[in-house]
Parts: sequence; C-alpha cells; structure tokens
Amino acid sequence: MNRRGDLDVLVVGGGAIGAALALALARDEFDVALIEKSAPKPWRAEDDVDLRVVALAPDTREMLDNIGVWSAIVASRVGPYRRMRVWDAGAPGELAFDAAEHGNAALGWIIENRLVQDALWQAIAAHPGVRLVCPGEVSEVENTDDAAVVALADDTRLRARVLVAADGAESPLRKQLGIGCAERDYAQRAVVAHVATERAHEDTAWQRFLPGGPLAFLPLADGRCSIVWSLPNDEAARILALDDEAFRNELGCAFDFRLGTIVAATARAAFPLRLRLAEKYVAGRCVLAGDAAHVVHPLAGQGMNLGFRDVACLRRVLGDARKRGSDVGAAHVLRRYERERRSENALAARGLDVIQRVFDLPGVPAAFFRSIGVMAIQRAAPLKDLIAAAAAGRI
Ligand SMILES: Cc1cc2nc3c(=O)[nH]c(=O)nc-3n(C[C@H](O)[C@H](O)[C@H](O)COP(=O)(O)OP(=O)(O)OC[C@H]3O[C@@H](n4cnc5c(N)ncnc54)[C@H](O)[C@@H]3O)c2cc1C
Repeated sequence: MNRRGDLDVLVVGGGAIGAALALALARDEFDVALIEKSAPKPWRAEDDVDLRVVALAPDTREMLDNIGVWSAIVASRVGPYRRMRVWDAGAPGELAFDAAEHGNAALGWIIENRLVQDALWQAIAAHPGVRLVCPGEVSEVENTDDAAVVALADDTRLRARVLVAADGAESPLRKQLGIGCAERDYAQRAVVAHVATERAHEDTAWQRFLPGGPLAFLPLADGRCSIVWSLPNDEAARILALDDEAFRNELGCAFDFRLGTIVAATARAAFPLRLRLAEKYVAGRCVLAGDAAHVVHPLAGQGMNLGFRDVACLRRVLGDARKRGSDVGAAHVLRRYERERRSENALAARGLDVIQRVFDLPGVPAAFFRSIGVMAIQRAAPLKDLIAAAAAGRI
C-alpha cells in the first residue's frame, strides 16, 4: 500500500476469473483486495458432479499450475479429453483431433466450475496478500486522478490504483462505468445434464451440429458425459419439460446413438445464450475482465479460457509497469491490456459466431459446402494443427 493506504489492485467479483487474478497478483506481491457479494458453495467430493462444467484448455492448466491450484483441482475430480470428434447432422465428413497427434497427453480437461472456484478460494484464504471482502457489494465507483474509489453497500470506502471488474456477464460495474456492449441474442438456451451412455465415452469430447444448434457430449471423470445442447428457446422449453424416458430417447436420437442408448440422466438446467462484447475495456483506472468484458457462444468451450487469458495478460502488463517504476493504473498501461485482449476476444467471439451461423444455415447447398469445409480441414494437416493450437491457447 502507498502512503495514502491505496491498494495496488481491487478486484470486484470472486468467480473463477476474479479469484485467479487476485491470487496471481498477490503471489506477485501486489497489494490486492477481492470483493465478492456472496461466498461460493464449497465443492465436496461426496456431492454429485455439479451441472456447471467447463472444458479448460492447456494454457489455462499452465496458469492454474503456475498460481499453485492445479494440483488440488486434479487431485479432486477432473475428466481429461484426449480426442475430439465434430460432425454435422446434415452433411458427411467428420473432424477428428487427437492429443497424441500434437504430442500432448490431453486436449483439455472437463472440470466443475465450482471446483475451480473452490480451489482458488482455498488458496486465497491461505494467502496473506489478498484482503477478502465477502459479503461485499460495490454501490458506487468513481475515478479520480490517482485512484479508483469504491463505496460498498455498508459505506466502507476502498481506494486502488487499478480496479478490475470481474463481476460476470451482467457486470453491474460495467454499467456503472457507462461502458456499452455489442450484443446478439442467439434466441437459444443451452440445456445441460449429466448422462450415462451404453458405451464408454473413450475420453473423447463429441460434438454434433444439428439444425437447431450444436450438441456436445463431454467426458466426465466418473464415466458419464456432461451434455450441452444448444436449442432454440421454444425447443429448449419443450426438451426441459419432457419426462426422463422421453428425454433420454430424444437425446440419444439427436446424438445419432454415437455412444449407444442413454441409460440414465440427471435433472436438467438451461442457460440463455448471447454474444456480448464490451465496447471498451478501460474507463479511467477501471478495467474489465472475464465475462464482464466478453460473453461467447459455448460451442467451443472458450468463455472461461478467454477470461484466464485476460488474467495472464493483465498480470504481465501490470508486472511490467511496476518493473519500469510506472503507475500501474496509468492510462497507457491499461490500454496495452485492452489492445491485446479486446482484439483477441473479439476475434474468438466473432469466429464462434460465424461457425454458429454457418452450421445454422438450412438446406442442401449449405450442407454441401459445410461437408467440403470439414473434409478440407480434416485433410489439411497444417490447418488442423492451427485449429488445435488455437483451441489450446498456444497461438
Ligand atoms: C452452458 C455453458 C457452458 C459453458 N462451457 C464452457 C466451457 O466449456 N469452457 C469455457 O471456457 N467456458 C465455458 N462457459 C463460459 C464460462 O462458464 C464463463 O465464461 C465463466 O464462468 C465466467 O467467469 P467469470 O468469473 O468471468 O464470471 P462469473 O462466474 O459470473 O463470476 C462473477 C462473480 O462476480 C460476483 N458479483 C457480481 N456482481 C457483483 C458485485 N456488484 N459486487 C461483488 N461481486 C459481484 C458474482 O457473485 C460472481 O461470483 C460456458 C458457459 C455456459 C453458459
């Protein structure tokens, strides 16, 4: 802290992205506070696998390892996927990725969101460098020349040289800062559940593009699959209302019985899908990170991975500024973060948007061109390597 008692960095939002950033910066000896409005429910091995899972990429694993939480996560409950199979219901051809082809043990890992957050919160609790304010909710934010100042609902005031809004897709802070968003409502909901299948999942992430949206089967550590089924809103409502047997039959059919019949399914939940890109990432001494800055279609499992790349970038940019003796909240420092991350996140989001639109196009000609595209990628080894490297966060 400086003489006025200012923090270096104040992070608002203790989801995976805010918690990882607070921990990473504290490990780099920044003075950090983390404000979260409600403590997350702890992860427990005896509970069933939570319905919210994410596919985490190799560069995310490296970062979690670097901040000392990966060993706790991997020792708990993690489903590695070593292969990926992607195909189109309306066209021939299949894209196949294999970790071994790229010299890796896994293409990624399926992990409960709650487990990632819990491991981060435990590490934060054990780290004296993070001041945790929970429950705490920001009611006002103000940019002054030398600090971002927040007032909490209980009238506590905190000052920091940088404030990071990692307060999720609805980001109240982004709204308070007057930062707008480009938005597209997909008019779809992602129906999620865990299912047991007749045949083993083979440590493979499967995705079938259907006329209404993609259907993914992601391999869980316990042998089941976590499904993410993107459907038009009315169709999602119908699927949610089916009884268990009818749901399992429709799901098996939609998945082309690729793993045989669906023998059991948990309760279902659904999440609305939209694209949301903040118009800027910086306002005065405040920056956006994670879903507060970008929300993408889950078809390639990239949302949280992009957020972790924000964390890695912000950590590097703030670290470099401190080494040079600069004010870490100076406009040119925060703009560097914005330049690097906003373009990459926008590219990823728009790329996913194009894929979503292309696979949504009805009719035989569209299916024909999709199948040519799929076969061309499958045969062009360098292009396939490029796609695999991008998904792994290596380029
Ligand atoms: C169906 C589905 C599947 C997905 N699959 C994948 C996947 O496979 N791979 C992947 O990488 N991503 C995936 N995602 C995206 C991923 O879940 C999100 O990108 C990620 O959870 C965002 O994390 P976050 O920390 O930015 O936000 P959040 O997890 O929303 O955290 C925000 C936090 O801020 C707190 N908060 C909010 N307001 C305030 C306030 N005023 N004061 C204090 N605290 C506040 C909230 O309580 C919360 O804890 C998926 C998303 C969906 C919907």
